[in-house]
Amino acid sequence: MAAGIRLYVDSPLGASTAVEATADQAHYLGRVMRLGVGDPILLFNGRDGEWRAEITRMDKRTAEMAIREKTRDQTEAAGPWLAFAPVKKTGTDFIVQKATELGASRLMPVATANTQTGRTNTARLRAQAVEAAEQCERLSVPEVSDMTDLDTLLADWPQDRPLFALDETGGGAPLAAIAATAGAAVGFLVGPEGGFQARELDRFAKLPFITPVTLGPRILRAETACLAALSVWQAVVGDWT
Ligand code: SAH
Repeated sequence: MAAGIRLYVDSPLGASTAVEATADQAHYLGRVMRLGVGDPILLFNGRDGEWRAEITRMDKRTAEMAIREKTRDQTEAAGPWLAFAPVKKTGTDFIVQKATELGASRLMPVATANTQTGRTNTARLRAQAVEAAEQCERLSVPEVSDMTDLDTLLADWPQDRPLFALDETGGGAPLAAIAATAGAAVGFLVGPEGGFQARELDRFAKLPFITPVTLGPRILRAETACLAALSVWQAVVGDWT
């Protein structure tokens, strides 16, 4: 059903406004999805809800859509933030895609002592987040930050947002129990393949806004830990309830 095609656009959305697609979007609509003038499409921009639009002009590198009617209000609750040490490329792509599907509202790559990978490609990760948001019918796209380092992340972290540090050494509290006591605005911090160093864990234990949490007795891959923490959160206090 062509109306199932959803595109994230950066322009304001309102009744009878026209929206210009980017060249990539025009290519996707025309060449990949074989759509043409008159075909319906759903648009969202993270602010104005979701609108049904119609393609009014299409050629190889441009497409224009006319907004017809609103299909959904912008009612989405902002989800948790996820700070994570980037892992090998496909692993980071996986984290971005799954965290988007699981409702994260902000993705923050952070270099910890044992992080092996170089800088992340923010533009590429943002494109992954957009694609995942379009597919899973979100009304917003998580913000993806440039990679930072642990010192900066902790220095800039808002003190009123509890940060759950995923501690693979078993030193943390069970996440489901902790989640039930926290408010809506939280964050998770997940380490790299090499895990957190003892001095990092000691530092977390001393910071008032950080709570070490455990995801059980098995050592999970970072990708699994990100996905599991967000899933527990959504199931206990988030929008899966
Ligand atoms: N190489 C390390 C494991 C790192 S796993 C070791 O062998 O000990 C990567 C990250 O996933 C960890 O830093 C932690 O943040 C998270 N993680 C993995 N298993 C976890 C668990 N059981 N509880 C909490 N966090 C976990």
